[in-house]
Amino acid sequence: MTDCIFCRLIKGELPSDIVYRDDDVIAFRDIDPKAPVHILIIPLKHIRTVNDLSPADQMLVGKMILIAQKIAEQERIDQRGYRLIFNCNRDGGQAVYHIHLHLLGGRGMHWPPG
Ligand code: 5GP
Ligand code: ZN
Repeated sequence: MTDCIFCRLIKGELPSDIVYRDDDVIAFRDIDPKAPVHILIIPLKHIRTVNDLSPADQMLVGKMILIAQKIAEQERIDQRGYRLIFNCNRDGGQAVYHIHLHLLGGRGMHWPPG
């Protein structure tokens, strides 16, 4: 999707601080970090929201979580802990309509979230 900022970022049309990339997934630092470590893990395939996932995406979504696990280790937040979040649609606080997994860490997280 040409009008999607994350698709543009994947194509290299927008700059980003990429920490991981393979044939299915890319991970980069959030432009407006909400924690000392704030990384977004996204599929190269444009999928609008979690509602649009299908059973065919099962491996892809599982892979996103395992990549988050590896990045948490690289960032040395794995032992202290971290949070993984998918925001979906308006009530979920989704601003960019290309699914992304937030990896947040480096500080204590509050519960319940706001
Ligand atoms: P959402 O609210 O949709 O779950 O999260 C979107 C996230 O994308 C936000 O945390 C926001 O800071 C981040 N973001 C938006 N535009 C850009 C961008 O152009 N580059 C990067 N690196 N992050 C972005
Ligand atoms: Zn997209």
